Amino acid sequence: MTLTIDSASLIEAKSGPRRWQMLIDGKWTDGEVGLEGERVSPGHGIVVSRYAFGSEADVNRAAIAARRAFHRGPWPRMKASERAAVLLKTADLIDSRREEIARLDAIESGKPIRQARGEIAGAADIWRYAASLARTLHGESYANLGDHMLGVVLREPVGVVSIITPWNFPFLIVAQKLPFALAAGCTAIVKPSEMTSASTVLLGELLMQAGLPDGVCNIVLGTGPEVGQHMVQHPSVDMISFTGSTRVGKATVAAAAQTLKKVSMELGGKNAQIVFPDADLEAAVDAAVFGAFFNAGECCNAGSRLIIHEAIAKDFLAAFAERAAKVRVGDPLDEASDVGAIITPAHLAKIGNAVTDAAADGASVFLGGAEIQSGAGQYMAPTVMSGVKPEMAIARDEVFGPVLSVLEFDRIEEAIHLAESTDYGLSAGVWSRDLDTAVTVARAVRTGTVWVNTFMDGYPELPFGGMKQSGLGRELGKNAVEDYSEAKTIQFHRGPRTAWWVGN
Ligand code: NDP
Repeated sequence: MTLTIDSASLIEAKSGPRRWQMLIDGKWTDGEVGLEGERVSPGHGIVVSRYAFGSEADVNRAAIAARRAFHRGPWPRMKASERAAVLLKTADLIDSRREEIARLDAIESGKPIRQARGEIAGAADIWRYAASLARTLHGESYANLGDHMLGVVLREPVGVVSIITPWNFPFLIVAQKLPFALAAGCTAIVKPSEMTSASTVLLGELLMQAGLPDGVCNIVLGTGPEVGQHMVQHPSVDMISFTGSTRVGKATVAAAAQTLKKVSMELGGKNAQIVFPDADLEAAVDAAVFGAFFNAGECCNAGSRLIIHEAIAKDFLAAFAERAAKVRVGDPLDEASDVGAIITPAHLAKIGNAVTDAAADGASVFLGGAEIQSGAGQYMAPTVMSGVKPEMAIARDEVFGPVLSVLEFDRIEEAIHLAESTDYGLSAGVWSRDLDTAVTVARAVRTGTVWVNTFMDGYPELPFGGMKQSGLGRELGKNAVEDYSEAKTIQFHRGPRTAWWVGN
């Protein structure tokens, strides 16, 4: 399989690599040490962005600014309706710059431009949802504690939040965190992935335009070790909201424990789609192709395991191959592309090794299995490994590429057992027209989300997050703002002292 990246696209991707600075205390700034980064477009193999990278000193500057804005600035003290107005204005500004933001995410992450547009529209919707929650956050009161006592539970913002995001959904994932933290009255330090920072920096520009006070949202660019680690350890930070790999997530929780910070973790997944013979098989085939290859499989929610009833496995895979052949892998800037490029050459090599190792373990390459020669950038063919056994690495470890593992079952108990045989617990899909089957599986699997006869839909109203080693806590949903708050109990005593401690 070959692919040609045309020169017009190369020129468009290249059109003046922009240089992006950090936002600290309302000012655009380079790092104190003078570190620099650059991004080579995965789809085109050319430099498309340059960044001012920060270090510990810049994290410190950002933490001081965020602390000051929290203790002395107007943001936590404003009416919720005023904070909501800033979030709504930000959503409008996101809409007005949608094309530009989508293009930044497409050239830096390699995702197809059509998909990127949808993600930016989805992000604006989440900012609006967070604005609505800002105004409904409230505490509790207890007038049932006796005539002399009134108990009140306030919800106060947790403080300064460090927000750390990955490269696969740069603009969407920050939207799952930042607006909710802001809605609660928190201040923040945000670090996007070193590879896909541009759209987050542009968001900083929009926030300032929307009227966010200085120091409330600080954006520090750079690597995990140079920047992220210090954001996790800094004594002025109260909470960590992290999305990324389970490996780094565990290290982050351990580091945050030293100062007992609140943590929210969205980590990896090895998600199963379980297909029973009575399902709408045409729909299930389409969803299986989508689940495996959407965002080139570089997706925490990827349906990277197909658990299929042995009676229908052969026909299902034949239909899958037919549909997968229609998936257009191509230039992220091409309107026709369904799947774009792989994030880096090193990651492409890692995906290739996972396929080779699986074959050595006894699995078979049913479809694809190799990179696509393109002359520029790096691309991987949609790949299916059949004959996978649950003990193989390809069945248990996250590949984070367009590689589907197929496992077969006979009885429902076996399907559930297979689905459960990984350390992850992010999401799962069940395909059956039988209510009993669907309910049994949906209740048995330990994942944060289960889709029944659909896959990978998402709504701001519905909580999202993982069980087991896929995470801690939930994002989105009606409690998303509350998660960035602390409960404070106040007890009001009325009248003469009722219980003297020293005899009176
Ligand atoms: P990483 O865990 O490598 O990185 C995530 C973020 O953490 C990046 O900004 C990274 O910085 C930063 N980081 C790295 N080391 C440290 C450290 N020691 N301390 C603090 N921060 C650090 O993940 P990827 O970026 O490779 O993203 C892919 C992973 O994200 C996959 O495993 C995927 O499953 C998971 N993911 C989970 C989602 C969910 O909601 N559950 C959604 C999307 C992705 P940098 O890379 O810039 O050096």
